[in-house]
Amino acid sequence: MYLDKEKIIDGIKRYLKVDWGKSLKEAEDFEIYQALAKTIMEGISENWEKTSEEYKKGKQAFYLSAEFLMGRALGNNLMNMGVLREVKEVLKELGIKYNQIEEAEDDAGLGNGGLGRLAACFMDSLATLNLPGQGYGIRYKNGIFTQKFEDGFQKEYPETWLKYGDPWSVRKSSDEVIVEFGDQKVRAVPYDTPILGYGTDNVNTLRLWEAAPINDLDLDAFNSQEYEEAVQEKNKAENISRILYPNDSTNEGKKLRLKQQYFFASASLQDILKSFKRIHGKDYEKLVDYVAIQLNDTHPVIAIPEMMRLLYDVEGISWTRAWNIVENIFSYTNHTILKEALEKWWIELYREVLPRIYDITYRIHIELLQSLEKQYPEDRKKHEKMSVIQGDLIHMAWMAIYGSKTINGVAELHTELLKNQELKEWYKLYPKKFQNKTNGITQRRWLLFSNEELSNFITKLIGDEWITDLSQLKKLEKYKDNKKILDKFLEIKNLKKTQLSNHLKKVQGIEIDTDSIFDVQVKRLHEYKRQLLNIFHIMDLYNKIKENPEMDIYPVTYIFGAKAAPGYFRAKGIIKLINEVAKAVNNDPRVKGRIKIVFVENYRVSLAEKIFPAADISEQISTAGKEASGTGNMKFMINGALTLGTLDGANVEIAQEAGLENNYIFGLKVEDINKLKEKGYNPSKEYESVEGLKKVVDSLIDGTYDDGGTGMFQELYDSLLKGASWHKPDQYFIFKDFAEYRETQRKVNIEYRNQSEWAKKAWINIANGGKFSSDRTIAQYASEIWGIKAKEI
Ligand SMILES: *Cc1c(COP(=O)(O)O)cnc(C)c1O
Repeated sequence: MYLDKEKIIDGIKRYLKVDWGKSLKEAEDFEIYQALAKTIMEGISENWEKTSEEYKKGKQAFYLSAEFLMGRALGNNLMNMGVLREVKEVLKELGIKYNQIEEAEDDAGLGNGGLGRLAACFMDSLATLNLPGQGYGIRYKNGIFTQKFEDGFQKEYPETWLKYGDPWSVRKSSDEVIVEFGDQKVRAVPYDTPILGYGTDNVNTLRLWEAAPINDLDLDAFNSQEYEEAVQEKNKAENISRILYPNDSTNEGKKLRLKQQYFFASASLQDILKSFKRIHGKDYEKLVDYVAIQLNDTHPVIAIPEMMRLLYDVEGISWTRAWNIVENIFSYTNHTILKEALEKWWIELYREVLPRIYDITYRIHIELLQSLEKQYPEDRKKHEKMSVIQGDLIHMAWMAIYGSKTINGVAELHTELLKNQELKEWYKLYPKKFQNKTNGITQRRWLLFSNEELSNFITKLIGDEWITDLSQLKKLEKYKDNKKILDKFLEIKNLKKTQLSNHLKKVQGIEIDTDSIFDVQVKRLHEYKRQLLNIFHIMDLYNKIKENPEMDIYPVTYIFGAKAAPGYFRAKGIIKLINEVAKAVNNDPRVKGRIKIVFVENYRVSLAEKIFPAADISEQISTAGKEASGTGNMKFMINGALTLGTLDGANVEIAQEAGLENNYIFGLKVEDINKLKEKGYNPSKEYESVEGLKKVVDSLIDGTYDDGGTGMFQELYDSLLKGASWHKPDQYFIFKDFAEYRETQRKVNIEYRNQSEWAKKAWINIANGGKFSSDRTIAQYASEIWGIKAKEI
């Protein structure tokens, strides 16, 4: 323990004085928050340095990711240090409300969704397991956007998480490096954030790069009153680390995105090599014994040709030796089988932004082609299909597979689909490279921290080992028929529902019936995730209530949370639709409060922490084969929500672990969809024949719901019945799954009424959630991919 009561009080007062010139009495919440954070930073600094030194002595894993969706740090850090309770008491004595201090911290929204949150959970597990692993990414000044609803439409506003500075990071100016593009040269400045593991003195590191200009100001231009030009270089440099996923519908947008990727890949590799050289000199043969690099999706794949440039051009190693090093250092994680998400770059743009990297990529392309020709003489079609450069495009995923030691999918089903469908040629060529690593989540943030009441109860029953060994939850199973224990579980669930409703009342002014079923779908908005199927079912139910006002329904609150990509028109149309239906349903006296729709604004980690513990139903209804894994499904499971889902991603494994009978699995399976596609799927048939469906779909365009003249609902309608230039009608099989989804929803509504049976199912889910800890996932990466071992300071 680094902090005792006196140190905490002294630290808070000292930093308030030094940083803000204030006494405790005068200080604002965010100032106290910052002072407390800095006190913690001071307390851990020695251990942090020691850990870094210790890790350098052996092999380290470096996790390159465009996203780290960290959320807030304060509560999680205090909890991992084991001083959360103490700090709460101290603050109370000082007359400060801990909750207010906690709410003063903005989320570090440096990610989009699941992929970024996975990276954040991995950081927590690496530190907790004392594993020498470090994250590398970009310090986006404005992160992802803040979402507001205005007249039911999504509006985006810039995030300002750095407004008052970030107390959790240290600027390491002495480790700056230069990154060079065809038309630009910038400084990459690292900021280190400590990652505190649970119950360990080790402190791991997340290093995020900020882009800065070589020259702050063009003084000549300034003195000639050309003020804009005078700071042009500065602005251009800073744009690189301004926002995550800038709109890339234009050429300039694409260029910026490629620059971001190269920026952090190059800076990270220079950093890794510099640190290696300090210890081992130029003995590069040793590199593979000291360095493993994980490429989180295709975003950092540009690191492969960049490593070749650094070894071959800069260090002067032969091409063959350099490639041999590359092949043994890099590993690639595939996160999606959606073709549009496998990154491809226009040659022209790539060459313009990164001329030397293009040459190197071309050589890699030629060497792959030669090896393909050797392996499959005559099979030109195959050579073409597997080439890094095809026509005008550079295929980053292919370069990743060719240049990596291992390729992994993120759930069993997903990896099987990669091996047998999407990447089957590659699997045939390199069978030994392919692995599965089912995703996981950290139970520290997603249970211990976010659901204190359930955590305490679990600990009372089975002890606290589950906090670092989630498989211990299995010991709960023996209580599955114990009425007293299940009643207590229900009591806690109800408390979490009340807490969430109080919060939503405060931030969005929404009243929720806490006795209703909380049916929750929170995740990024995407057609394949099928929020549309969810709202269609509610629209149908609403139609039924209007026809039969006395209908027997157990009250349900349908909770949505989702951001749509700013340029994704259809996703934004779905948001507008849900908000329009909500307006109609929530204000219709005939509904008599039986159903209610709540769309939470600005879904993010700190809100997620309040939502998962309060859920009864976890909506995981993606089109089978499309969701690589999902991790939200796991957070729901260990908080005692039942999965209402398709056999997709990790839902398959959840159902396997907890039993099909304890979840609500429905709908088309991957094989069914493949058969349907082969046969030819005509959604008009379902539209005409499935009772109630036509009425729902028609209400998109018959004036029932109003899209404010944007054409959004017509476009949704067309996407389902007519298709578009790039896809067939109803490409996500919403119509085909509609009837069975509705039937399953009916079953949920009836079975929920038997509270003891329900609690038993929820309990069995919790007891079988052990597999879904990111500790398990990270232990597998460490031993089966990276070859790193735990090291305690
Ligand atoms: C877990 C999480 C996700 C991922 O959710 P999926 O349902 O797996 O897509 C996205 N956003 C936030 C804030 C999360 O916590």
